[in-house]
Amino acid sequence: MPKMTLHKITQHKMTQHKKTLHKLGRRDFVGGVLAALGAAAFSPLQGLAAGESLLSPGGAEGTQGAVGTGGFGFAGARESGIPKGPGGPEALTIRQVIDLILAKIPGAPFPQTVDTIKAGNPDQPVKGIVTTMFATDAVIADAIRLNANFIIAHEPTYYNHLDQTEWLAGDPVYQYKKDLLEKHGIVVWRFHDSWHSHRPDGILMGVLVAMGWDKYYDASKPHIVSIPPASLENIIRTAKQGLGIEKVKVIGDLSQVCKRILMMPGAAGGTAQIKAIRAEEPDLLLCGELNEWETSEYIRDFRYQGGKTALVDLGHSVSEEPGMEWLVSWLEPKVPGVRVTHVPSGEAFRFL
Ligand SMILES: [Zn+2]
Repeated sequence: MPKMTLHKITQHKMTQHKKTLHKLGRRDFVGGVLAALGAAAFSPLQGLAAGESLLSPGGAEGTQGAVGTGGFGFAGARESGIPKGPGGPEALTIRQVIDLILAKIPGAPFPQTVDTIKAGNPDQPVKGIVTTMFATDAVIADAIRLNANFIIAHEPTYYNHLDQTEWLAGDPVYQYKKDLLEKHGIVVWRFHDSWHSHRPDGILMGVLVAMGWDKYYDASKPHIVSIPPASLENIIRTAKQGLGIEKVKVIGDLSQVCKRILMMPGAAGGTAQIKAIRAEEPDLLLCGELNEWETSEYIRDFRYQGGKTALVDLGHSVSEEPGMEWLVSWLEPKVPGVRVTHVPSGEAFRFL
């Protein structure tokens, strides 16, 4: 995709989202969305602080009744690829939404991938979509409030990369989330490998837009961004403001001038990070997460030996969140009439 087109498409939407997202906390953000949508539609769930009462009978507006697909006369309406519900409104199923997303990903669907359905029945009509980094209990509760039955999450739901659940049998924290999803008929689908395989990488592009750096995107070397010279201190300020990050971890001299930035949001792993530093010798590595016995120690030794590469560790979740936010503007035109909302799962930690 040509640079200008990409920039034009992303800029407006992200600016809008960013203003709201970064001024407000996650809950306030969702509250703002609800207010904008008209609170009356969600009144049965207002005032619930936690997911607990969402599980009790009658405590929430049940959505299970809407899950069945039997009432929709899909037969004969498939020619366009978009089934029509009774009365005319288009009623895509969740599976169809997934298929139309994957149709835009080179090489997808992949035979081996973590991008699988983690909960729910994808053959139900989609009522609303939530994008997020982690389908936390709190994000699920917000999806229920938004009357959304499809959560697209970048990271695992059940606390391990492959979302294996046998080892969690009998674990009450796992069971609570599983029950919450089942009760409300919510589908969770992971969109990790495929989103990174999109061109441009959806996560990377979201981060670049959030940083105001998408104009420096170079498709021939996507992870190296050449920016006008800026001090490390200024870049950290840009990252904190753009990504809504409270604190970052840094190795380097704050006054050092950086031009070539190696962008590795998320957790690429020490070997990949170190090999990329070796190959590119960037002024700065911006990463989401690292093992503190790998990349940071390599950079310490490299700098001792005269190397100039600085390091900023943003935090995994917040380093990739803008990519799931960017997904909203990417997906909306493909699912007309379906509300797509980004609900940031946010930073798990407080920093004292
Ligand atoms: Zn990622």
